[in-house]
Amino acid sequence: MNERECLSRMVSPGMKRPGKWLQGVIQIHVTRACDKHCYNCTQGSNFVGKNTFMPPIEFEKATISLRDYWGVVGVFGGNPAVSPHFEDYCSILRQQIPYEQRGLWCNNPLGKGKIMRDTFNPAVSNLNVHMDRKAYDEFRRDWPECRPFGLDKDSRHSPVYVAMKDVIGLRDEDGVPPNRNGLSTGISKRYELISNCDINQHWSAAIGLFRGELRAWFCEIAMAQSILHQDEPDYPDTGTIPVGRRNIIHDSKTTYTLRAWWELPMISFSQQVDKHCHECGVPLRGYGELAQSKDKDSVEQVSITHLGIARPKHKDRPVEEVHTLDMLETGKLERTTNYIQNSSI
Ligand code: SF4
Repeated sequence: MNERECLSRMVSPGMKRPGKWLQGVIQIHVTRACDKHCYNCTQGSNFVGKNTFMPPIEFEKATISLRDYWGVVGVFGGNPAVSPHFEDYCSILRQQIPYEQRGLWCNNPLGKGKIMRDTFNPAVSNLNVHMDRKAYDEFRRDWPECRPFGLDKDSRHSPVYVAMKDVIGLRDEDGVPPNRNGLSTGISKRYELISNCDINQHWSAAIGLFRGELRAWFCEIAMAQSILHQDEPDYPDTGTIPVGRRNIIHDSKTTYTLRAWWELPMISFSQQVDKHCHECGVPLRGYGELAQSKDKDSVEQVSITHLGIARPKHKDRPVEEVHTLDMLETGKLERTTNYIQNSSI
């Protein structure tokens, strides 16, 4: 498969995902700070590093860019409740986004359950407590309508920071030469995997801060990579400036409406795909670890591309550098994003 074919199968932020909440989700990432350190966290909240909190003014700009969006607008982290601006986010969201569309991704309310209840639609909120009884009870007490989960069952997280480009070279290991389209079989295989990526097919685009500036990515993992590597001087700024729909008056009779960032087709995000998808492990569906594993043999698996950011918060946790696909135990998971179901495999 080549890049063009791959892009034609991918889901852009403004395309509907049938069967999903309101047929789509776009996240606003307010912080990577989190009170937990789950193995293989998609946002790298298991790693040390600088934590920032999105200023309310940037949060408001993000919501304005999503004004005509029809899907769920998620407040996302890390744990958003850790942010000192959480109450401000809630107030802005109540002004800018209809109740039905307001979602929250949170593992622990940390005393903010009542304002969560006043702000978010529990039917489109994802509240995985990651086996924390206190967090579960607090959600149930302060937000009786919400549905926290993950108390009795752990989640299985595939390694996200094993870059495909590090384990699937440009050519197959057996040296098969480029095919008649001029593509080597290795890169063709990568595009095939990317075109069927579970996060792209089933989850979200995102807005976050990159070097202090508001940016949008077609995928929440593309965003996470950018945020985690943003202090490297050569790391590129791949984000799109998140502008909403706007009218341009052409002459006294004609007004054009320009598309919002989330209405752009996948081809407009091809620079992000080129960088982030090839540096991502999601399509590999590695077996990974249970998020709360206490097993002494558990490891954080990463590859050379991300080795520099892989400094676990939990100091005794080992990091294993992955060189080959075999090390990932691929083939055991049908879908990476079935986090709870996969815990029993
Ligand atoms: S960055 Fe990773 S998770 Fe996102 S679409 Fe690309 S391959 Fe999938």
